[in-house]
Amino acid sequence: MAFSRQCVRDADVDGRRVLVRVDFNVPLKDGEVADDTRIRAALPTINHLLERNARVILASHLGRPNGQVVEGLSMAPVAARLAELVGREVKLSPEVVGARASALAQALQPGEILLLENTRFESGETSNDPELGLALARLADVFVNDAFGTAHRAHASNVGIAADLPSVAGELLEKEVINLSAVADDPARPLVVVLGGAKVSDKIGVIDRFLEIADEVLIGGAMCFPFYRAKGGSTGDSLVENEGIPLAAEAIRKAAAGGCELCLPVDLALGREFSADTEVMNAEGTEVPDGWMGLDIGPVTAADYAARISAAGTVLWNGPMGAFELGPFESGTRTVAEAVAASPAFTVVGGGDSVAALVQFGLTDGVDWASTGGGASLELLEGRDLPGVMALNEA
Ligand code: ADP
Ligand code: MG
Repeated sequence: MAFSRQCVRDADVDGRRVLVRVDFNVPLKDGEVADDTRIRAALPTINHLLERNARVILASHLGRPNGQVVEGLSMAPVAARLAELVGREVKLSPEVVGARASALAQALQPGEILLLENTRFESGETSNDPELGLALARLADVFVNDAFGTAHRAHASNVGIAADLPSVAGELLEKEVINLSAVADDPARPLVVVLGGAKVSDKIGVIDRFLEIADEVLIGGAMCFPFYRAKGGSTGDSLVENEGIPLAAEAIRKAAAGGCELCLPVDLALGREFSADTEVMNAEGTEVPDGWMGLDIGPVTAADYAARISAAGTVLWNGPMGAFELGPFESGTRTVAEAVAASPAFTVVGGGDSVAALVQFGLTDGVDWASTGGGASLELLEGRDLPGVMALNEA
């Protein structure tokens, strides 16, 4: 598919000041970056700019400081980790915008990197205050948006700034949009969509859209329980999202009316409580007895889903099949993850926990695309326009 926005590869960046909105919203532990996946995901864009001798200014939010300066949410640990990854100095601006940020940006030489402080230290960030957007724009000559994870939000550092500068997509953002769009845009058939996780309401937009596009939609995780209830089944002590029950009923009607096969688990692994050392029992059918909760799909379901994934032309997987964090209940998610990784289909995985499962099982290399964006990937899959993409210059 052609990407409809300009990309950093085609932009004139040589020697120029380039402000890149990245997604460095990483987990911290004891004042250090606990997982640098998102920082590494931004390296293709950063390295491209360094090769072109650009003066690189990076901006990201970190956590939710709500417009206040929160010391524990400073970008300092991120600057330290990034410096290790790029093998050169990363200067840290003590503020997002203002006299000191401007002076540091002005002094920046070709091939140097300046990281601005946490954009959410400014209250105008999440309200998309045009003054903050303009102040950020004044730091640079070109804007690159590579923060796919926040592309579904219209904030000053990804949308406001684009009103005042030539604006192009970064390498990561472009790949995210192309790969996630490819699932719905003339996919190789059959298109098999595997959905799990905790709540139907999180993913109803995706369910609705893919009941129209996909050949098969396979449901797992706690998401199956509103479907069980909608069909008159019992769910025992399982995690059931009540608001999900009418949504599930509607999805069942829609699947029956259209050409899409909607599959629910035909067996489950049950526990007494949400714990790794609870008593475990396998159950067939769609009835969970009182005193038990469904914590994973069962082996019959897992084998069926794996076979469908193996036979697919395109696979989209979003949401674990069970409480995979708990050892006894990881098996369904592992079987599905292995099938996705081994499938000859074009395979796309979205959702923070599903990608975490892939990492846990060491299977990331087997998939064509593992999305870095949770909410943004869901909105894109729902077929919605992302403000962070729409704000960029058209190709
Ligand atoms: P993703 O981040 O991949 O989109 P979600 O956030 O929707 O996935 O769901 C992941 C969470 O769902 C995990 O914390 C997992 O423990 C939980 N979960 C999945 N199945 C069950 C279940 N049967 N019972 C309770 N929790 C479940
Ligand atoms: Mg999640």
